[in-house]
Amino acid sequence: MSEYDYDELGLVAGLEIHQQLDTETKLFCACPTTLREPEAAAKTFTRYLHPTRSELGEIDEAALEESRVGRQFEYLAYDSTCLVEEDDEPPGRVDSEAIATTLEIAALLDMTVADQVHVMRKIVVDGSNTTGFQRTMLVASDGAIETDDGPVGIEDLMLEEESAKRIAETDSGVRYGLDRLGIPLVEIGTRPDIRTPEQAREAAERIGMLLRSTGKVKRGLGSIRQDVNVSIAEGARVEIKGVQSLDDIDDIVRNEVRRQVELLSIVDELDARDAAVGEPQDVSDVFADTDSGVIGGALGGGGKAMAVRLAGFDGLVGREIQPDRRLGTEFADHAARQGAGGIFHTDELPAYGVTEEEVEDLRAAVGAEPDDAVALVADDPETAGLAIEAVVERVPAAAAGRSTDVPRDGRAAGRARRVGDRDARTAHREGRALPGRTRAGRGPRRAGRLRPANGVVRGGRRDGRRPDARCGDPRIDGDGAPPGRRAR
Ligand SMILES: [Zn+2]
Repeated sequence: MSEYDYDELGLVAGLEIHQQLDTETKLFCACPTTLREPEAAAKTFTRYLHPTRSELGEIDEAALEESRVGRQFEYLAYDSTCLVEEDDEPPGRVDSEAIATTLEIAALLDMTVADQVHVMRKIVVDGSNTTGFQRTMLVASDGAIETDDGPVGIEDLMLEEESAKRIAETDSGVRYGLDRLGIPLVEIGTRPDIRTPEQAREAAERIGMLLRSTGKVKRGLGSIRQDVNVSIAEGARVEIKGVQSLDDIDDIVRNEVRRQVELLSIVDELDARDAAVGEPQDVSDVFADTDSGVIGGALGGGGKAMAVRLAGFDGLVGREIQPDRRLGTEFADHAARQGAGGIFHTDELPAYGVTEEEVEDLRAAVGAEPDDAVALVADDPETAGLAIEAVVERVPAAAAGRSTDVPRDGRAAGRARRVGDRDARTAHREGRALPGRTRAGRGPRRAGRLRPANGVVRGGRRDGRRPDARCGDPRIDGDGAPPGRRAR
């Protein structure tokens, strides 16, 4: 792949590095920070997400959306976890070993330590915390590290609780392990000072080296994870989450730049063709006698084939943006969020048992001109309708050059964790756009991420059983809830 002139493209990148600390006990209880095998679980319990109003009377949209989905979160508890992880007991004091290590890291990064450290809450809607939020503390700010291409500022250093470990997707939701929940985690955010892929790698390596030099951080797969923010002057700011290997950071930045450059060229072409999206239509009749297994199977089971005309998109839906990633892939991702197995589009048809004649009939059915593409979903009627709408909603963003987006932070966090379980090469394809065409800075996003402490979402207990108490450190301290307002 040819190198771009990153200076000319206006590359701006920043890093967010998450590192688990190797403390004896967890951040808010006296449980050990050791990981367990799912088979060793002592019991399981299930919670659902309930959106509640904040003090300002607002309901978190992401929480509301997630609660509508009605997913079931199942948690594995161990003989090495306690009621704090289950959110059936208030948190204990902040672990002093974790504080000491965080202060050491602050000194190594030449940071200014806060006069007071307060525990705040970040809303979590993917079930990765039994509380419905993640406790986090701003410990230090305003540091810097040196790289060959100049200094990279360190914006802030947070000490927070590690999320529960995603073990599996279940039919009704997600299964998590509580062994990882509450392990102290530091989050180091750089300023958007990085200008080349090599500098991103060097900055990540340097920070990683400083962390390891304390001798107090966990090692091994999953113990360090990085988010990489990448933007170019004309492109969207994209955050690639859950990168586990430092070695891949430069490639990830390069690939993301390439993706944005390719997307922008598609945007120019769509603009020149006056691209637009039509109204979804039921095209089941076109496929009444189809040999396509997917479409035939859906229709035979009482489903529908829904299609939409993508005016001006011919040839662009299937054009590769980066290895194995096309605009069509992005549309398919959105359809998949509605439960559809995927979409077909005319740039890749005839194929998959769909004949030339069916493609012609499909084009005719939605009134497609030669410059147009058609997207098609076959599924049960409700899923097909929602999925095709998801494609329709995605089209204006595609035409404006905004790339893959995943709604709101919480869901993205869930996605990130999935990404984190795979390799970084997968991760770079799952970057998500942040609102607007802003450059890679961390300020606005951070401001939006920290919410009023009062419980906006929370897992509700439904199994009705009281678990056995263990590992008690009953001191009520260190939680971010305003006095008397702890959500239960
Ligand atoms: Zn515990």
